[in-house]
Amino acid sequence: MSEPLRVAVVGSGPAGFYAADALLKSDDPPVEVDVLDRLPTPWGLVRLGVAPDHENIKAVSRAFERTAARPGFRFFGNVEVGSTVSHEELLALYDAVVYTVGAQTDRSLGIPGEDLPGSWPATAFVAWYNGHPDFQHLDFDLSHERAVVVGNGNVAVDCVRMLALTPEELVPTDTTDAAIDAIASSPLREIVMLGRRGPVQAAFTPPELQELGELAGADVVVDPADLELDAASAAALEQDRERAKRNVDLLREFAAHPPAGKPRRVVLRFLASPLAVVGDGKVEAIEVVRNELVEEDGRLVARPTGETEVIPCGLVLRSVGYRGVPLPGVPFDERTAVIPNVAGRVAGASRTYCAGWIKRGPSGVIGTNKKDATETIEHLLADARAGELRARDARDLAEVLREKGADFVEYDGWQAIDAAERAAGEPLGRPRVKLTAWERLLETGRRVASKP
Ligand code: NAP
Repeated sequence: MSEPLRVAVVGSGPAGFYAADALLKSDDPPVEVDVLDRLPTPWGLVRLGVAPDHENIKAVSRAFERTAARPGFRFFGNVEVGSTVSHEELLALYDAVVYTVGAQTDRSLGIPGEDLPGSWPATAFVAWYNGHPDFQHLDFDLSHERAVVVGNGNVAVDCVRMLALTPEELVPTDTTDAAIDAIASSPLREIVMLGRRGPVQAAFTPPELQELGELAGADVVVDPADLELDAASAAALEQDRERAKRNVDLLREFAAHPPAGKPRRVVLRFLASPLAVVGDGKVEAIEVVRNELVEEDGRLVARPTGETEVIPCGLVLRSVGYRGVPLPGVPFDERTAVIPNVAGRVAGASRTYCAGWIKRGPSGVIGTNKKDATETIEHLLADARAGELRARDARDLAEVLREKGADFVEYDGWQAIDAAERAAGEPLGRPRVKLTAWERLLETGRRVASKP
């Protein structure tokens, strides 16, 4: 058998693990894979993005554990490309490098008042309630009666639902204690979700929408007038048998159902765009404009009508999509916020590949990344078979990191973190209590991970 190809996968979320899995299954050539992550913990958004009450979705990490158990797999946590090691160093250490770093920041609305205290990107709120160690210092003040979530995607739905969960629904999850306390003790009465287009164009998916109708502590409210469709939307709905049709059916059920008088209300609004977040030193309201839909380049887009309204609120979560960020030394397209690539081969960079959100943009569900990563790895393996890879020197990343004095966490270090978290959760009937401080994570991961 030929000497194994050595590949670094940068980013340990779903795209990274699906890429690692496809590589480790190859026997022509055989491959060894090191998965690197800037965090001490793997799984990316499965650990730190998927809502804590979606335990069944988080269970995909079991498949990633099976990948990690394959011969030839290693994990290096707390290793950041650009600071701990450079892209050039990786190219010297590996035959190929695959970037699966996701989309690390949020898209902005570009409206006045967007950065007032009390107006947050949803990405920060999600990272906070999920225990991301970089977001625990944020002071989410939920002591308001109304919150407004801008956006009509699944992340917006997650934020709305998390704000509406009762303590009984939150306690059996791995939501951080700070977030459980803040949500449970909040006087929130109303959570408004604003879609800039109509119900037919909403990006959320039916199972996620349906859950809003099943909340123990919140009624879901839809104005039937918002479901009166313009001719183009009605025609689009006629063609749709999947998402839009099921969404609109659910919304019609919600609209027909009188509120049961639960403590909180989730109000779904459509054809409404934020114009400004307003307040004196902090969020006090959001000004919105009513939109109409017009066709532009074959697509229905929102156009403001001029009819405005002010919605008083103390919290605004802006959930209008994630955005990729550039990595030092790696090509990046500022306009689309992805690494420019042709089916996973990075344009203008040899032996460099990408998969997942940094390849195609922040869309799709976890499973979408499997097909996406498989495509990339097929090309990488074809390039290897064509003799285009194999340019590394003989050194090993662990040796280079030790030389640099870098404090890294290997897979058994992560297993120690995982075991500590599960042990902390067990007596409380929770899946885990996450370690959320960098020092605690490194300390726990280091105990078993530092080998001579
Ligand atoms: P998304 O699905 O792309 O939704 C973004 C939303 O923001 C859209 O409704 C979009 O409206 C709206 N928007 C964009 N710019 C806006 C603006 N300037 N003003 C007002 N609204 C604006 O993104 P996401 O919710 O961040 O989710 C990312 C991906 O993760 C999606 O594929 C999602 O399905 C997935 N995800 C899945 C789950 C799950 O399966 N449970 C959970 C979370 C996330 P337009 O359509 O008008 O552009």
